[in-house]
Order: sequence, then C-alpha cells, then structure tokens
Amino acid sequence: MSTVEELKARVCAAIDRAADRITGLSDDILRHPETGYKETRTAGVVADQFTALGLAPQTGLARTGVKARMRGRATGPTVAVVGELDSLIIPDHPFADPVTGAAHACGHNAQIAAMVGAGIGLNDVIGELDGDVVLFAVPAEECIEVDWRMGLRDTGELHHTAGKAELIRAGHFDDVDMAMLTHAGPSFMPVAVGGAGNGSLVKRVRFVGRASHAGAAPWDGISAYKAATVAIAAIDAHREMMREDDGVRIHHLITHSGDAVTAIPARTDMEMLIRARTIEGMKRASALVDRALRGGALAMGADVHISTAVSFLPYVDDAPLAEVLVPNAQTLAGDGFHRIPTTGAGGGGSTDMGDLKQVMPVVQPFASAGQDAPLHSNGFYTKDQVAAAIVPAKFMAMTVVDLLVGGAATAREVIDASGPKLSREQFVQLHESLSAEEVFSGGVL
Ligand SMILES: [Zn+2]
Ligand SMILES: [Zn+2]
Repeated sequence: MSTVEELKARVCAAIDRAADRITGLSDDILRHPETGYKETRTAGVVADQFTALGLAPQTGLARTGVKARMRGRATGPTVAVVGELDSLIIPDHPFADPVTGAAHACGHNAQIAAMVGAGIGLNDVIGELDGDVVLFAVPAEECIEVDWRMGLRDTGELHHTAGKAELIRAGHFDDVDMAMLTHAGPSFMPVAVGGAGNGSLVKRVRFVGRASHAGAAPWDGISAYKAATVAIAAIDAHREMMREDDGVRIHHLITHSGDAVTAIPARTDMEMLIRARTIEGMKRASALVDRALRGGALAMGADVHISTAVSFLPYVDDAPLAEVLVPNAQTLAGDGFHRIPTTGAGGGGSTDMGDLKQVMPVVQPFASAGQDAPLHSNGFYTKDQVAAAIVPAKFMAMTVVDLLVGGAATAREVIDASGPKLSREQFVQLHESLSAEEVFSGGVL
C-alpha cells in the first residue's frame, strides 16, 4: 500500500508526463474564447479530455457545463475540482475573438487546464482513494451580457445570471461534498490563498419617456435619457455617505440611450452591478440605488422598470478546507507562497464561488498568470501556462489525496468543521428573497 507521499509523487509525475497536453489545452482555450452560457466549443474540448481519461462526461448542464466522476475504491465523500469555461468581452485584447470580442482576460482557460490536469494526476491513484472525484467545467462566472441573460430568465430558460447558482438549483452539485478551483493571479504572488469577494446584485433598468421632435417640439417629449442621468447623479451623490465596512461598488452601463439624436429619447436602458461585502450591505446599497432610480423617473416624469437579481453571494474560503490545501501549495511554491488577508482593503471583486460556499466547503487559491497586467484588462492573459495550470493541477490533486486517503478521514473532518450549509431549497429561497421586479411611475405618463 502506498503512503500519502508516494501517492502525491505519483500524481505529480503523471501531471508532469502530460505537461504538454495540459499547457496546450490552456493555450487552445485562450485562443478560442467564448462568453458565459455560450461556451459550446470549449465544453466540447473538455468533454473530449474527459473521454480520453476513460470517463463518461455529462454535458449540457446549465446549458454548457461538463461533469465527470472518477470513482474511488470505496464509497465516501466526493471532492470536486472545478474550472470555469467562460471569457470576458474585450475586443482589443490580443487574443480576442474577432467576431464576438470575447477574450480570456480572467485566466479561466488555465482553470480548465488545471482541472483537467488534476484529473490526469488523480486518474493514476483513484483506485487507492476512499471517495470520488468530480471534474466539473462550469459555465458563466463573469457577470456580463446581463440583458441577454435576464431575457433568458424572463422566458424560463435560465434562473440565474451566473453558472454555479444555475447548477446548484438544477441539482448538479447535490452529489458533491466540497469543491476547489484555482484562479489566475499576478506574478508577484506565484501561489496565494485567502482574500474575500463581495456579493453582488445585478439590475436591468429601463426608463420609459415620450418621444418628440427634438428641434420642432421638444416640449412634447419626456426624456428617458435625462431621467437616467439624474438617477446616476443621485447614486454618485450617495457615495461619500456609504459605510466603509460595506465595501460597496456600484457600476453601471447605459446600454441604450435613445434611438435618434433628433428625437427626445423615449427609452433608455441600463445594466448595473451593485457589490457589497455582506448580504445586508447588498440590501442597503440596492435600496439606495432603487431610490435614486425612482428619483430620476420622478424628476423627469418618466417611468422606470427595475429588475433585480443576485449575481454572486459574498465569498471567503472555507478555513478547514483551505488548511488542507495550504501545505501542498507551500510545498510547490516555497517562498512564492502568500497569504491574502480576508478582511481590510481589497476583496472588491466577486465570484459565484460565493454561491457554492453557501451549500458546501470551498476553497479558491490563486496561481500566477506569469504577468502583472490588471485582471479584466486588455493586457491580461495567462503568459506562463506552467505557473497558471501545471502548478495548481498539482497542488489541487495533492490536496484531494490528503482529503480522500485512509477512509477519507480528512474530508470528513473538513465537512464537520465547516459547519451547516444551506440545502438546495434554502439556497433558491435566499436568491429569490433578494430578487425583485418593480415598475415606478414618475407621474406624467
Ligand atoms: Zn473575472
Ligand atoms: Zn475569473
């Protein structure tokens, strides 16, 4: 019988033997970016990789998700290694799709490669582990194309703008007990564990006014666009009074300002993202934004339609699971290992790992992309596929070994120490309690 260290050495050797396949996969996906819920090519590539491992992938989960189970020698806890399929849209990115503008400026291509790499390593030892491993490529982490996704929500084709919530709702995480995913990070932190993520609400907003000739009879019009600008000014006026502890970020795009510059705009559309550290903070910021949106409508005599939904719930690593992963990350990274504080400055970003955390223990470490351009900028892509994909493949696979050897005692300890989680039904209720539809009339129409 192999020792834990022997199993880890075998896992790492298998990953090293497949290094070209893993880095090639990361590079291939980098060059073929697809946005959330549309990752059909990427999903096909992942399914082929799973099949090549001798697994039977389930496909089309929450539109594009791909999942495969590796069975251990005994029934026990199931650990998922997760990778996100989707890209952003950054048309001037060096690896942008020339037609769609999709671009991997968040490094999710390396996540998929690291997940497949971990599977390649674990395939060699799964018969000596006392639990199962699920390899899971999940759709739509980035909260973009909000109008399209909320349109699918209107027709019942989707319930959530983000992929993990959609998968949880559909029961695809019911047979998983804990999950890990490694995200790309800057090169000055080769491997890092910690940090936190804001929760966020997404809003689709439509101001409705009345069109008229902008030159001949502007007085007959009600400008939906001006109503939006008054609302934006009101939101901005609130920023100095916000609680610092809430860590609020409010972003908006005007996605449609009007139809013709010669007419008073009758319709102006916005999409918004409202982030805060806690669910209570999300509610406070959302109420403030709704009041400002109503205020803009009232000031101009327009109507405003506000659709609100959760995009992500607040995130912090599950501490007991992180403590199993940290020694493996330290072994590989040495002095390059960093701890990121979970409180204080930073943490303004968001992830739907926050949703998964509501239902199971999760950990999301970071591995260097090999460069330091800002995430989500046109300069960010995974330059060093070994650092971004091979290293995390190894430390995630090593962590799975720790969790599932010897009767999966460590996995069971993590589950106990992590404490109670929401059921699928409670999770859905929480999302629905934070969602709302409102039509406010400014009184003139
Ligand atoms: Zn991102
Ligand atoms: Zn990301």
